Amino acid sequence: MTMQRPQSAKLYEEALRHIVGGVNSPSRSYKAVGGGAPVFMKRGEGAYFWDVDDNRYIDYLAAYGPIITGHAHPHITDAIVRAAQNGTLYGTPTELEITLARMLKQAIPSLDKVRFVNSGTEAVMTTIRVARAYTKRTKIIKFAGCYHGHSDLVLVAAGSGPSTLGIPDSAGVPSSIATEVITVPFNDLPALKEALERWGDETAAVMVEPIVGNFGMVMPHEGFLEGLCKLAREAGALVIYDEVISAFRFHYGAAQTYAAFPDHAAIEPDLTALGKIIGGGLPIGAYGGRRAIMEQVAPLGPAYQAGTMAGNPASISAGIACLELLQEPGIYDRMDALAAKLAAGLKAAAAQNGIPLTVNQIRGSFSAHFCGHPVTNYDEAQDTDGEIFGRFFKLMLEQGINLAPSKYEAWFMTTAHTEADIDATIRAAEYAFARL
Ligand code: PLP
Repeated sequence: MTMQRPQSAKLYEEALRHIVGGVNSPSRSYKAVGGGAPVFMKRGEGAYFWDVDDNRYIDYLAAYGPIITGHAHPHITDAIVRAAQNGTLYGTPTELEITLARMLKQAIPSLDKVRFVNSGTEAVMTTIRVARAYTKRTKIIKFAGCYHGHSDLVLVAAGSGPSTLGIPDSAGVPSSIATEVITVPFNDLPALKEALERWGDETAAVMVEPIVGNFGMVMPHEGFLEGLCKLAREAGALVIYDEVISAFRFHYGAAQTYAAFPDHAAIEPDLTALGKIIGGGLPIGAYGGRRAIMEQVAPLGPAYQAGTMAGNPASISAGIACLELLQEPGIYDRMDALAAKLAAGLKAAAAQNGIPLTVNQIRGSFSAHFCGHPVTNYDEAQDTDGEIFGRFFKLMLEQGINLAPSKYEAWFMTTAHTEADIDATIRAAEYAFARL
């Protein structure tokens, strides 16, 4: 079976002439899966995409997370159309912003106050500024492999050990900034303790994805978040949760309110960064936290943050509509069941062909790692077979299954996927594994 994609190939050539790398985000290129022209999609509806050559795909990328109710959900589309008809940008406050802020606060009680921005990157970047303003300290501790957007400070890679200062992960990030960041392995409390013993009195915040979505889907070990919060607070540092992926992904709430963590009081952060799902597929970010900390932000306090597009009626309306849909009883259980069925099908197909595969499933999402060991931190996620993943990705694509072109990214269920989609995907995987 060979799928023809001449229009995608042609558009890619054209895009390369005008857009750097032909893509507007490097994660969309196929560089990590052996290269080639990325598929140019022209329409999405429910769980499906159609490309410019009229091939149909079942989509598990979900635009890297936000599209949890499927593409072009009519309730969200209506909300966006209504917002557009009323004017897309005011530069004044609107009642809609209060509605979404209230919905977030009800679902995530650690948010006394919130502020809307335009992306997850902005949200995270500002939590760092606010934490620094509040603590009057400068250093940040983060965890290897957690992605927090592309602002300078969080583009600092792991050092060679738990107590080394970071090195810039991107050209253009000055090494002076890298000295403000310490990176320790996820799920490693002794390493965090060591870093805090050395730099605790200079540390403004410990930042973490409480459930990791960026080197696969990885749960914190039991007690990890409790220990992290305790150690950070003993050092006088704030705790920042980056819940850009995790909020509203596993249940109606955030990782910090997820039932898998029974002692919510022990794991509540001081600040939370949000994005993706809360915008229903339109650009959004938000950050929030304890009143006294948030009151550092202008116009109340000395920490400046602003945005021409922030809180625009279309993004906010789409976000409200998306969260309304996610309140339907049983909706997360259905995504969970579909993910479990697909994960089991993938594992069985891999085993049948003697291919080691580790699947980390968390409710309606999972990551599939080509390796025979557990994946609980970034080192283990790196120690997986990228070459075989690249071939698997292409074999699935050929059969109309759209995955993220990276061995680290998750598969996301949406409320639009059906049992029939899952069955078709398992059949495609059986074909792919047999040819790897
Ligand atoms: N934080 C996390 C956990 C993310 O996964 C991402 C994006 O993938 C970001 C922050 C950055 O968000 P954005 O791409 O909206 O700037």
